[in-house]
Amino acid sequence: MPLPIVAIIGRPNVGKSTLVNRLAGDQQAIVHDEPGITRDRTYRPAFWRDREFQVVDTGGIVFDEDTEFLPLIREQAMLALAEASAAIFVVDGQSGPTTGDREIADWLRQQSVPVLLAVNKCESVEQGLVQAAEFWELGLGEPYPISAIHGNGTGELLDDLIAYLPPTRELPEVPEIKVAIIGRPNVGKSSLLNALTGEKRAIVSPISGTTRDAIDTVVERNGKTYRLIDTAGIRRKKNVDYGAEFFGINRAFKAIRRSDVVLFVIDVLDGVTDQDLKLAGRIIDDGKAAVIVVNKWDAVEKDSYTIYDYQKLIQDRLYFMDWAEKIFVSAMTGQRVNKILDLIDTAAEEHSRRVSTAVINEVLQEAVSWHSPPATRQGKQGRIYYGTQVSTKPPTIALFVNDPDRFNDNYHRYIEGQFRQQLGFTGTPIRLLWRGKK
Ligand code: GDP
Ligand code: GDP
Repeated sequence: MPLPIVAIIGRPNVGKSTLVNRLAGDQQAIVHDEPGITRDRTYRPAFWRDREFQVVDTGGIVFDEDTEFLPLIREQAMLALAEASAAIFVVDGQSGPTTGDREIADWLRQQSVPVLLAVNKCESVEQGLVQAAEFWELGLGEPYPISAIHGNGTGELLDDLIAYLPPTRELPEVPEIKVAIIGRPNVGKSSLLNALTGEKRAIVSPISGTTRDAIDTVVERNGKTYRLIDTAGIRRKKNVDYGAEFFGINRAFKAIRRSDVVLFVIDVLDGVTDQDLKLAGRIIDDGKAAVIVVNKWDAVEKDSYTIYDYQKLIQDRLYFMDWAEKIFVSAMTGQRVNKILDLIDTAAEEHSRRVSTAVINEVLQEAVSWHSPPATRQGKQGRIYYGTQVSTKPPTIALFVNDPDRFNDNYHRYIEGQFRQQLGFTGTPIRLLWRGKK
């Protein structure tokens, strides 16, 4: 069976050959001998994960009418596209969208081949997201920031690319939610781990490439897989004196970093301590989804108001995490422990949720019409041109404005609040990037 073909298309000098070289490595070119075509196209075999394909560089398409070779080059591109299963349209992130890009995009939108838009020369991650966002206007869907030279971002591009290739063989893929159980000593992490895994169902699996003492526990429920991270670290600390400062905080930080969702365990008898605040800060800095698990609920004497009082106490201390669901449980009796997995599901979904540019701009328009951006003391008015979600995990929205300095913290919070109110994103932090025109 011939390998599926991926056409690489774009203006000259955007980095097409560099990208082809990266995808194909040093694998030899296959030269197809096709009568009637003056310039042979060269196909290079490439693979990603378990999929093999060939890439063909179409030469630079230029739609500029005074190019002598134009008809020929365009014909090459069309032929390449006609036989391709997918195309990668490469543009130059450093130059921004050009007239040539827009013309090629208009043409590509009329073709039936799926097109992925690769914004090349994005070496730095943050800058890359912003550069890439400028290319939404081409109307080819989400731009992928990449650096063909260094390889940044090409993994995500290829992950999505192979979905468009005709299937070769079936490999079931099991998506996992990576969960870190985090909290001070004695809040009940290991009790909770036992309650969640029920000992027998737990499969302990070492993580490849890490030290032997970092061990994950895998739990399955309703066809979903949860990987509880570094459970060895949770179980280990018995009878160890960690001193006054902190108990393996670095270990906790590492587990947070590896996770999608953090189960942030608090002891209801102690309330939210300063050490808890340290952990909360790290969860937010790392942009992780979280569920606040308030444990030892069985040990509290209650009347019908107690839960509200505790909710308020925790809310007051963790006001900056008000997006996280709070659940009052007892790891000891098992009360409500089952509901934790539901909250993890929601948090994980919201953490990787994508909202269309159209919806984001509706929210913005509405928000601005209720409450227009402030003016600086010199009377300069802030203006928001448009917004677009540039990434997930956590959801990150870039806002393109005339001058970021004209927007104060109050207004930042107002806009964030509006996104929360309209879009939810329960269980996950969101990030707003305020970008000026350069
Ligand atoms: P093509 O004409 O589209 O095939 O472009 P080339 O692959 O020949 O690259 C054009 C120029 O862009 C060369 O000078 C490359 O070194 C440069 N280039 C390609 N990829 C990148 C990249 O990821 N980052 C940067 N900064 N430059 C790149
Ligand atoms: P870790 O250090 O965070 O892993 O905490 P452990 O799971 O070892 O629990 C510390 C202590 O709190 C133990 O004495 C547990 O029996 C107790 N504990 C844990 N969960 C609960 C709970 O839900 N209710 C009560 N009353 N005690 C608990």
